Amino acid sequence: MRSSAFAAGVVLLSLLGSDGASNFLRAQAAPASPFTPGRSPSQPIDEAYTRKIREYTTEPFFLSPLVDYLPASKTVPTPSVVLGDIAGAPNKLPYSKEVYEYMRLLDKASPRVQVVSIGTTEEGREMIAVAIASEALMAGLEQNRAMLAKLADPRTIGMNDAEATRIAGLAAPVYYITGTIHSPEAGAPTALMELAYRLAVDESPYVKNIRDHLITLITPIVEVDGRDRVVDLFKWHMAHPGETWPGLLYWGHYVAHDNNRDAMGMTLKLTQNVLNTYVDWKAQVIHDLHESVPYLYDNTIGDGPYNAWLDPLVTNEWQMIGWNNVQEMTRLGMPGVFAFGNFDTWSPGYLMFMAATHNGISRLYETFGNGGSAETLERTLSPSETSRTWYRQNPPLPKVMWSLRNNNNYEQTGLLVSLSYIASNRRLFLQNFYEKSKRSILKAKTEGPAAYVLSADTRRPGTQAELLRVLQKQHVEVSSASAPFSVSLPARGGADRRTGGQAVDSATRRASDSASKTTTRSFPAGSYIVRIDQPYSRIADALLDYQYWAPNDPQRTPYDDTGWTFPEGFGVEAVRVVDAKVLDVPMQRVTGEVRAPGGVTGSGPVVAINHNGDNALATLRYRLKTADMQAAEEPFEAAGRKFNRGSFLIRNVPAAELDQTTRELGLAGYALSQAPSVKTHPLRAARVAVMHTWTSTQTEGWWRQALDVMQIPYDYISVQDVAATPDLNARWDVILFGPTGGSPQSIVAGLPMWRNPMPWKNSPETPNIGTWAQTDDIRPGLGFAGLSNLWHFVSRGGVLVVAPGSAAFAVQFGLANGVGINSAGQSRVVGSLLRSRLVDDASPIAYGVIDSLAVLSEDGESFSVSNRLGGGGFGRFAGPAGRPTGRGTASDGDVVQGRPALEPRFEAATPPTVEPWQLAPLQEDQMRNPLNIIPPDQRPRVVLRFSAQRDLLVSGLLGGGSEIADRPIVVDAPKDKGHVVLFSINPIYRGTTIGSYFLVLNAILNFDNLNAGRKLDVR
Ligand SMILES: [Zn+2]
Repeated sequence: MRSSAFAAGVVLLSLLGSDGASNFLRAQAAPASPFTPGRSPSQPIDEAYTRKIREYTTEPFFLSPLVDYLPASKTVPTPSVVLGDIAGAPNKLPYSKEVYEYMRLLDKASPRVQVVSIGTTEEGREMIAVAIASEALMAGLEQNRAMLAKLADPRTIGMNDAEATRIAGLAAPVYYITGTIHSPEAGAPTALMELAYRLAVDESPYVKNIRDHLITLITPIVEVDGRDRVVDLFKWHMAHPGETWPGLLYWGHYVAHDNNRDAMGMTLKLTQNVLNTYVDWKAQVIHDLHESVPYLYDNTIGDGPYNAWLDPLVTNEWQMIGWNNVQEMTRLGMPGVFAFGNFDTWSPGYLMFMAATHNGISRLYETFGNGGSAETLERTLSPSETSRTWYRQNPPLPKVMWSLRNNNNYEQTGLLVSLSYIASNRRLFLQNFYEKSKRSILKAKTEGPAAYVLSADTRRPGTQAELLRVLQKQHVEVSSASAPFSVSLPARGGADRRTGGQAVDSATRRASDSASKTTTRSFPAGSYIVRIDQPYSRIADALLDYQYWAPNDPQRTPYDDTGWTFPEGFGVEAVRVVDAKVLDVPMQRVTGEVRAPGGVTGSGPVVAINHNGDNALATLRYRLKTADMQAAEEPFEAAGRKFNRGSFLIRNVPAAELDQTTRELGLAGYALSQAPSVKTHPLRAARVAVMHTWTSTQTEGWWRQALDVMQIPYDYISVQDVAATPDLNARWDVILFGPTGGSPQSIVAGLPMWRNPMPWKNSPETPNIGTWAQTDDIRPGLGFAGLSNLWHFVSRGGVLVVAPGSAAFAVQFGLANGVGINSAGQSRVVGSLLRSRLVDDASPIAYGVIDSLAVLSEDGESFSVSNRLGGGGFGRFAGPAGRPTGRGTASDGDVVQGRPALEPRFEAATPPTVEPWQLAPLQEDQMRNPLNIIPPDQRPRVVLRFSAQRDLLVSGLLGGGSEIADRPIVVDAPKDKGHVVLFSINPIYRGTTIGSYFLVLNAILNFDNLNAGRKLDVR
């Protein structure tokens, strides 16, 4: 790390040096900006405002010459006109409305400011971007954008380097700043209001240099729904002194902190709006503001392992900009500014990372906030935060009074230093922007691959289209082959050449290893080709490729998921093609959204639709509420086609309506003159509830999001609603209790009932808290009444679906007979994709689900199953059996000394070998008084398990694996007339595991027939 910092310095010096000898000399000793930070003596300052800046800053060294004054303007209003005080004033957090009002006042008052709307949130709140630059730049925005567009897509200038150099000398870069994506990290909006003012008004040479040469683009609030709620909550806290107050339960409509993990799946509006803005403005940087580390942690540089799909040019830029930032702020006398740190730079899921994966520069600050409060508080830090280390030579102080103003000072100073650095070195960064864009295009023929191909003969066209639509949201170009074609593929197997959704067992792989070096694969016309010779090829490659995190990597604490291979998570195949001839295949760019073909073929009273696991099948069930739909319990053939188990047979829908709906949903129906002779059961539109606690609502939000996207109606209920509803069956058929934090006991107990009630409620005091989830008091949990109600719900025939966290609750409280939970033990998994295997493909839960599907495991958790209460059983796990200590070798038997060898009649039968996913058979003496023996029809039924250890890892980190391999991961546990369906993996996660959604959807659609295809033990 030290050596890279040194290298960055050398690069910087030589580049500045190219402008001339005087610059070269200055660069050795002076700030990277040729201008000294500080006010212009010829511009008056706003005395009152400046006095308050000093008053609200708790120590003089928490100020810098860049922010210790506010320039005065006769025409442009300061933030105080809206705030009633200065930015960063104690106890003042503005709503989005106030922030936008101020930005629009700036727009009106200054030709240097322009506000644009960039879309809305899930709850319909507006998102904006504020552009600030000199009058000349603002007047020439369109010409500038046109120039930047040529650098962003070098194909448009025929990859002409000379032309790019010319443009880089003329154009102004765009630096995009995004604030408060994490709502309790609440300081950025006021810092950005004041920064916008300074950029528009300040005549100091330092700021003028920025304004004249760079366009600053600001989205002051990324998570607008959460912003308005955190302000509600803070105001409630201020209005109720002495009372305890709830944490911010809901940030965005669906997820909390995970809104900063959506840059792969692009499911949230905020992610889409920010990327569209970045791409539309042809920006060079996304700089995202967070507040959880004292005092300013520039985590841009981060730690290894770096994302493997990025151009090294950008990782070098991180080093240059980051160390410059530390150096300059240290020079300005601000303590606690550092880079490097504990953030690994592997996952491309973070908002700011969209710049890195789209040829720009990703940046992120953690400054120090007071956790959603605008109060000035005494803050004591831990020794790990205040120790001096090689990368933090001037660490934060052990104990200080900390104010919102301090935070705003650090945010603005850091940003101004960064803006100045990019403005002063704009030619370099624009050259790099071009170079990175060009190398992303050349990648097809340099490092490869040339393309990914998604065949038109896929068995899951709907899911394939979903995957391609994610790429389209990422602004990746998708093409469609206009004729059949062939490519040569390496025949050698191995992880680097595997293809999504097509797990090959190791025997096959070994066989192909010894065969010829290449093989030819043909694709039909209409197959999709994702060309890698395009500017945004890196995000396509990063999402479609495999990830490998070495178990012995020096980075011991991955910051987030380690594997995400989209084709695997979606259960569709994307063939990685290195053969550059694929680029010559006749093809057309797809212009609209990729959609699967659909509609009904033929005529007849019954329409069959193959269950291929496309999620639109579940949408269809709810769209045609009154239709008669049946599930085939066995595979069958009809209309000259093969249909999987679970396929839909639909009656009583007008032909035109069914044709229209299946066309819209991309489902292929085949009308039959008569129903096939196959056993069926009804597929009813179950009445679904999604149940949540009042302590952990983050990860279940992805389940709600998926249900909403699929248009599956549900009631969103809390554990308190369940406690208050004795007859749950009267209202719901299926209760989904998604992934949740906290212990099983805390789900029942809730929060301590000490002190005051804590409302989470839409009220005049808290108008932005949604009516869709509210309570007078978040403290009570499920309680014993709720537990009892759930117990009866299942017993009477209801289906309860549980996931990591909630599965432990179901097991602990006896709702899942014969099921136990296994941790990964010594094995290591951190957000990895692991291979699964179908155990019981006759279970309705497995309908349409492919064997060998990759599933998302957070930490390697799995289940154990038994036909006895309390677990255990007779038998031994497969593999080398343990023998007791004694004479002989590992495979010998012990010999008792001093007596003859055992006669056969004394020898017990060898225990049967039991695989980890099997129920151990019962022994005669266990049946003598079978008190704890679960009756056959009440025993757990394993639907899915992890694969064997040698095939277990799909993508990401797997250390060891013996405590994970082969173990059950999806289990149907009957309880009286109902079922508890348990997941140890997360089937619905961040929009990236589309291939496993149907495990949950099947439980919903077949809720009253989950026993279909079940084989019962005789005793
Ligand atoms: Zn954050």
